[in-house]
Amino acid sequence: QANGEPVPAVRHRLTVVSGPSGVGKSSVVGELRTLRPDVYFSVSVTTRAPRPGEVDGTHYHFVDRQAFDEMVAHGDLLEHAEFAGNCYGTPRGPVEQALAAGRPAVLEIELQGARQVRTAMPEARLVMLMPPSWDELVGRLTGRGTEQEAAVRARLAEAERELAAAGEFDARVVNADVRTAAAELLTLVVGGG
Ligand code: 5GP
Repeated sequence: QANGEPVPAVRHRLTVVSGPSGVGKSSVVGELRTLRPDVYFSVSVTTRAPRPGEVDGTHYHFVDRQAFDEMVAHGDLLEHAEFAGNCYGTPRGPVEQALAAGRPAVLEIELQGARQVRTAMPEARLVMLMPPSWDELVGRLTGRGTEQEAAVRARLAEAERELAAAGEFDARVVNADVRTAAAELLTLVVGGG
């Protein structure tokens, strides 16, 4: 469950982007980032090891399990979850500061975290990024080549669970093409009602 007080959200200023591993969340959110430098993009903490090319403080804050547990205990995380054997969480402070300054904020997180945000901040807009098809998702996930077979299997199992929850989300965006999906997501992030 989420810790502490709910963030005083302006309506629809906070957007949660979820979607199965391999759907292209990072690419779509990355594209959105280049379009809109005024939007705040949360940097999560994780106990996962960095992948090649990932930079500490940019892609994630990479921490050990003890540091993660301390952040949870101190209420420093807006939401947190375990995913495929690693812990992930959203640092609360930077999100609160962005919202207080009137900046739209975007969290790219998995399903359990999205549900925690929904509870803590009912005004947040939840968007699920969808693959064009299941086969396409399997292809993207196995083709990534950065994960061992067991890890791929774990992510596919999670993917099935995530997609089954698509109906809980306020909007669904299909990622057939990164730029089209980013443009669609943009209207949800900065759009009104
Ligand atoms: P990856 O290990 O592939 O970077 O991320 C695995 C999953 O964890 C993805 O679905 C990603 O969106 C999610 N994730 C990343 N950061 C967070 C976070 O702060 N909280 C939660 N709940 N999920 C996160």
